[in-house]
Amino acid sequence: MLDYDYPDAQGHFGPYGGRFVAETLFKALDELTAAWVHYSRDRAFLDEYAYELKHFVGRPSPIYHAARLSRELGGAQIYLKREDLNHTGAHKINNTIGQAMLARRMGKPRIIAETGAGQHGVASATVAARYGMECVVYMGAEDIERQAPNVYRMKLLGASVVPVHSGSKTLKDALNEALRDWVTHVENTFYIIGTVAGPHPYPAMVRDFQRIIGDECVQQMPEMVGRQPDVVLAAVGGGSNAMGIFYPYIQHEAVRLIGVEAGGEGLASGRHAASLSAGTPGVLHGNRTYLLQDAGGQIIETHSVSAGLDYPGVGPEHAWLKDLGRAEYVAVTDSEALDAFHRLCRTEGIIPALESSHALAQAMNMARDMDPDKILLVNLSGRGDKDIGAIAAREQAMRAAPGGQS
Ligand SMILES: *Cc1c(COP(=O)(O)O)cnc(C)c1O
Repeated sequence: MLDYDYPDAQGHFGPYGGRFVAETLFKALDELTAAWVHYSRDRAFLDEYAYELKHFVGRPSPIYHAARLSRELGGAQIYLKREDLNHTGAHKINNTIGQAMLARRMGKPRIIAETGAGQHGVASATVAARYGMECVVYMGAEDIERQAPNVYRMKLLGASVVPVHSGSKTLKDALNEALRDWVTHVENTFYIIGTVAGPHPYPAMVRDFQRIIGDECVQQMPEMVGRQPDVVLAAVGGGSNAMGIFYPYIQHEAVRLIGVEAGGEGLASGRHAASLSAGTPGVLHGNRTYLLQDAGGQIIETHSVSAGLDYPGVGPEHAWLKDLGRAEYVAVTDSEALDAFHRLCRTEGIIPALESSHALAQAMNMARDMDPDKILLVNLSGRGDKDIGAIAAREQAMRAAPGGQS
C-alpha cells in the first residue's frame, strides 16, 4: 500500500498548499477547518449529504461503456463516468451542496462565490435557492459579457451577480473581490470556493466533497467489468473533478492517473492554460502551487477554447502528485478537444462539455495504441449544452476566414 496521507495539519501537500492570505482571514479559516473536521465525522451530516446527492443531484452517476467509439478506434475500451447527468449538468454541485450544508451548520445565512465561466456561480446559486440562503456572486465585467446565459440562470435562481471592473475584469479580479467581501462580512458569510484551490482547508475539503466520484467508480468498475481500470483520465482546470476521481485510486498503484490540461493553441504558442505542463511553482489564490507566471512573478494571461479550464493555477495536491510521480499531466490542444467533442456526439449520442472533451481526446489518442482488453476510464465532468453557441460561432468564424473551409 502506498503511504499517502495529505495534507498535513497546516494544509501542506509537500511544499505546496498552505495559507497565503491576510492575517484577518486566519480566524475564519480556523473556524472553517474546525467545522469541517467535526462534520466530516458527524453521522447526521454525512447521512444528509448522501440523501441530497441521491435525491437532489441524482447520484450515483452511471458508468457507460462507449462501445461504438472504442470499436471505431480499434484499441482499448473507453468507459465514461457520467457526471454530465448530475443536476445542473456537471460535477460542481457535489461540492456546492457540501459547502452550503456546512454554512448552515455554522450559522451563516449568506453565501458568496466568484465565477469565471459562470458554472460555479450557477452551482452556488442553485444550492442557495435549495436552502433559502442569500447568494452573491462576483464575476469579472468582461466575463459577464461573454457568459450571458449563465448570468441569467444565476438571476433566475435568485442570486445577485456583482460585476467586477478592476484589473483584467476576469476571474482573478472577481476572486480578490470575493475575498474582500469575506473579510468584511465574515460573521454572517460563507465563501464557497469552486475547485481544489484557495487557502487551507479548501483544497482538502473540496477534494473530500468530490471524492464521491472516485468512490463510486471503485465500486462500479468491478461490478461492471470484474476489475479496476488500467488508466483513469480527467480534465484539469483548478483540478476538482480530477482530484475527485483520482483520490480513491491513489492507493490502487497499478492504475495510471492522467490529468489533462488545456493546451490551447499549443504549448509552444504560449497561448494555453497548462500550469503543470508548462508552469513553475509560486503563490496564487492563497496557496503555493504550479502557475503560469513570467520571470518577474506576474501571472500570464491564459487561453483555452474551454472557459472552465482557463485558469493560470492548479490545485496544490495535483502539484504534489506530479512531483511524486503518482499522477501524470499532459496537455491537449483546442482543436484536438473539438475533434473529440464531435466524435463523441456522433458515435455515442452524448454531447460532452468542452472541458471533458480534453480528457476524451487524450483517451482516444492512447486507446488506438493499446490492446482491446485494456480499459480507460474517463471522467465526463459535464455536458456540453452550455458550449454549443461558442462552438457554432468558432466554426462560422473558421469558415469565414481566408483559406477556411467553405
Ligand atoms: C468547472 C469545470 C471543469 C474544471 O474545473 P475542475 O475544478 O478542474 O474540475 C471541468 N469540467 C466541467 C464540466 C466544469 O464545469
